[in-house]
Order: sequence, then C-alpha cells, then structure tokens
Amino acid sequence: MKQFLLVGAGFSNAVIGRQLAEAGHRIRIIERRDHLAGNCHTERDQQTGVMVHQYGPHIFHTDDQRTWDYVNRFAKFKPYVNRVKAVSGGQVYSLPINLHTINQFFGRTFNPEQGRQFIAQQGDPSIEHPENFEQQALKFIGADLYQAFFYGYTKKQWGCEPRELPASILKRLPVRFNYDDNYFNHRYQGMPAEGYTQLVANLVDHPNIEVHLNTAYEPAMAETVDHIFWSGPLDAWFNHRLGRLGYRTLDFERITAKGDYQGNAVVNYCDPEFPYTRITEHKHFSPWEQHEDTVCYQEYSRECGPEDVPYYPKRLAADKQRLDDYVQAAQTETQVTFVGRLGTYRYLDMDVTVREALEVSDQVIDALNNHQSLRAFYHQ
Ligand code: UDP
Repeated sequence: MKQFLLVGAGFSNAVIGRQLAEAGHRIRIIERRDHLAGNCHTERDQQTGVMVHQYGPHIFHTDDQRTWDYVNRFAKFKPYVNRVKAVSGGQVYSLPINLHTINQFFGRTFNPEQGRQFIAQQGDPSIEHPENFEQQALKFIGADLYQAFFYGYTKKQWGCEPRELPASILKRLPVRFNYDDNYFNHRYQGMPAEGYTQLVANLVDHPNIEVHLNTAYEPAMAETVDHIFWSGPLDAWFNHRLGRLGYRTLDFERITAKGDYQGNAVVNYCDPEFPYTRITEHKHFSPWEQHEDTVCYQEYSRECGPEDVPYYPKRLAADKQRLDDYVQAAQTETQVTFVGRLGTYRYLDMDVTVREALEVSDQVIDALNNHQSLRAFYHQ
C-alpha cells in the first residue's frame, strides 16, 4: 500500500485518486480553493436556484467509450446538445459554421454540394500547410467568414493577433455543409444532472480518500508520501523559477432577470465593439429543470496575473520556449507526476483529462505491480 498526495481537486486528481484508492492505496487530496471540481465547479445560484457553471460553460462530450462509461458510473447524465449562437454585424447566426450560417451570411440558398464548392472558392489555396490560427481560417473558410466570426472574438479571447496562435485552436470547431448545428462532433454528449461538483464528490467518496479543501501545498508535505500528482500550473511547481508561462483568465459579470434572457445557453459576441466574448445563460444547461428567474454570466477574457485563476494556457512562441525548459525540469523530477490542463500546460477538454487520468492510473498500478519506481512523466 502506497501513500499518495494529490494536489488540486479537479477531474484529473479525482479520477487518479479513485483509481488508486480502488487499487488499495491511501490518497490525500488537497485543494487550495473551498470547493471540488476545479474550474468545472458548479453550484446552485442562491437567488434563482439555477445550477451555475461558476467558471464558464462546460459541456461533457467524448468519442471514447471508456471515458463515457466511467463518468456515467459516478453521475447520472442527462441528454444535452450544445447549440451556440453568434452575434456578428448585427445579426444572429448559428455556430459552428454550417450550411445555415453560410446561406444566411452570403444571402444564398446553397445545397450541401454548392455550399462546399462555394466555401472552397472562398478559401486561400496558396496556403498549403497552415501554420497558425489565421492561416488555418483563411485556407478553409476564407477572409469574410474569418473576419465575421473568428478575428474579433479570438483577439478578445486570447489578447493577441490570431496569427500568433496555433492552428489547433481553430481545429476545435468543425465546419459543416449541412444544417447540423451541434457544437461538437462527438458520439456522446451530456450534462451531469446534479452538476460537475457532485460528480467529482462522488468520485472522491471512497474510504481510502481524504480531501482537504482550503489547503495549499507546502514542500514539507512531500516528505511523508510516496508520490505526488500535481494538477496545478506546471510553472507554479517550480516556483516560476524559469519565468511565468502565459495563461488567460476570465471575469464574469452577473446578470439576473425574469424568464428567459437570451433563449439559449451560449451566445457569442464576435464583433470587437462588444468587450465581452460571450454570455452564458445557465438554466438552459438544465432544460429538465423549471426556474422562473434566470442568471447569466457575461464573460471577459484577460491576461492572467499572479493572483488570478488560470483558465487557458496560451502557448505563444515565448511560452513554448519556456515550456520546453519546464518540461526538461519536469522530466528530472522523480517524486511528482504532472497532470491535467494546468499541470501539462495544454488546452484539454474534460473528456481528454479524464481519459489521461485513467491512463496515468493504469501505468501507476502496472508499475507498482511490477515493483518499478514511479517516475514523473509529462505529455506534450
Ligand atoms: N472562436 C471564435 N469565435 C467564436 C467561437 C470560437 O473565434 O464564436 C475561436 C476562439 O479563438 C476560441 C476558439 O475558437 O478560443 C475555440 O472555441 P471554443 O468554443 O472551443 O472555446 P472554449 O469554450 O474552450 O472557450
């Protein structure tokens, strides 16, 4: 039996803790904040009774059978399909870009094949291998759609020119030549009926797991444990000694109203005139519940300072250089494994986080069964 210390009580460590606890090990999870579930945290709003995604919208979606079966063991999932609306140039469109968006935007009545051919003509064929967000957009959807839906939003969201960002960020969003306006392409999608925090609470509800909220990590804690899983920011483990990695943080302005404020869970504001990126109306995430009042979060993105909650790893050129140095440092650590969005400095979705946490747990259990040492490892 080993003693593990898990720093951070988000999805990564909840899953690792559960798996290792079920394998007979003793788990101590510490969390600096006063709640479980990290930035997936959900809580009932006192005024309206609505289940609120406190750190912005989270929709669970995956293609991975093991991940889907696993989360369904710990929470009842209700069917939910995310359909996003986008305001651009004084009109409301549907996202991701689909045939309706294309027809509305260009004032046409294309069928799927005509739409496909038209968008192919919009694209810039001179870009063979898109190397950044902007080139990816210009190659596949052309300048007009890029300007209308992506340029302004992305500048607000990331605080830089889209050409400084990796193409992978845009690849998160599909382009469709039919009227399917599901935001995601995955086979499974849903919302935990009692929220993500309850899901995480169920994961850590095991006799071998103890959880301490409002508890920050201190180096002395390492002395009494066999191994640590760190889901805080990678650079924070090293006390930022090689400089700070860039993150974006979010601010939310709360709006309450009677009835239905915007008729949809998420409405994006793509034009630069709006200082916010999107408005989330949380009650639409739980369509099986009835609420007379409504609560919305208007979302603003800004650079993450030392005291702010990090949300999005930026991975700009300067970050990548620094990241390489931190990764090298991480690989020489023997007592700590870095996990999750912050621990590995990658833009991970919840399902990938869960999947990787299951894989890490498998490797740890295998290593222990084979009497091998647990060494740090890092995903790039
Ligand atoms: N994006 C955009 N306009 C939109 C929606 C998304 O430009 O209306 C870009 C933006 O750069 C964003 C990225 O696509 O950061 C990924 O969007 P997603 O909805 O996946 O972001 P998340 O919900 O993770 O913040």
